[in-house]
Amino acid sequence: MVVNKYKIREQNESLILKSIIDHENISRAELSTLTGLNKASVSSITKTLLDDGLIFETGIGSASIQGGRKPIMLQFNPKAAAILSFDIGIDYLKGSLAYLDGTEILSIQKKRITVDAKTVMSLLEQAIEELSIKANVEIVGLCTAVHGIVNENSIVFTPYYDLDTIDLYQELTSRYDYPIFIENEANLASLGEYVFSLDSKTLVSLSIHSGIGAGIVDHGILRKGQYGEAGEIGHSILYPNGKKCPCGNHGCLEQYASNSVLYETLAKVKQLDYVDSSVVKELIDHADTETLQELNKNAFLLSVGINNIIAIYDPEVVVINSSIYRSNPALLSVVEHHLTSRIARKVLIQNSALGSQATLYGGIALCCQNFLNIRELKFHLQNSY
Ligand SMILES: [Zn+2]
Repeated sequence: MVVNKYKIREQNESLILKSIIDHENISRAELSTLTGLNKASVSSITKTLLDDGLIFETGIGSASIQGGRKPIMLQFNPKAAAILSFDIGIDYLKGSLAYLDGTEILSIQKKRITVDAKTVMSLLEQAIEELSIKANVEIVGLCTAVHGIVNENSIVFTPYYDLDTIDLYQELTSRYDYPIFIENEANLASLGEYVFSLDSKTLVSLSIHSGIGAGIVDHGILRKGQYGEAGEIGHSILYPNGKKCPCGNHGCLEQYASNSVLYETLAKVKQLDYVDSSVVKELIDHADTETLQELNKNAFLLSVGINNIIAIYDPEVVVINSSIYRSNPALLSVVEHHLTSRIARKVLIQNSALGSQATLYGGIALCCQNFLNIRELKFHLQNSY
């Protein structure tokens, strides 16, 4: 049982907790040296953390070189609490119940369902009930990913469904005690990469589906801009006076380089009724010339977008989260080949290791950062995707 489960941890408590998480196994004396806090403070803070069930004492460490007593070691207890994370797509709902370090307890997935303002709450309530039954510890946060623009937990604009017509945050907070978060899916995916997949301090993650969104993380903090619209890289203009885009501009990147544009183009070129990532993979396996040409074109156009991202945000890593790029890793080198500027060429470009689960992990990350009051949180996942 976690005492005072929703309280905001004070700064020194979070500092100690972060050191224990980062070092996996650490003594009180080492904590004092690392954090600069005196031994009495470390002793009092670790007592609180032990009482709250967030850490436990384990085994005996090695004695210091000066000799003396062997210290008791401390470890973080990821099973102290659980988190609920949801991804609400246009026609699906994915949910995960996980411990604080992202270890999954239970997941659910409902496909080909109608998601709109009328159905979303009953879908969520049912899913929360299904998952919560398996929670043998307190739930300390719930995060819901929405495919659209979200500002301060308020859904501002969802072009593909009408979730911007209800106050989902209010609906959820009136029903559940734990802290609730509503966030954009690409933002969450980037936070998932930051906490669970990469060691880097700054990154931009590109979520490429029907549109192209980006999440920007700087030392554990999501950079969302004044209105929650930072990272809308899909609406950066590639061709002035180009194709019309629903955003109101012409020639936006996502009208040329999104996965759905690639599928439509290939369906036309190959005279197929339907193309998705598995059809693309099949065409590549047969070394289909037209497909390879279209993919090279896609990688080139995407590299223009990535070049702009790098010029604006200067991240350590750019993560590409696209089913096409994940199943065809060779495309990454095409992107890299086109990133020739002095600014862009030192940035690491890589495929997402979390894939389609990145958004759910991002929800867990956001709740966990809040619960532990640690921004620069890093966990190594036991099972990677
Ligand atoms: Zn646009």
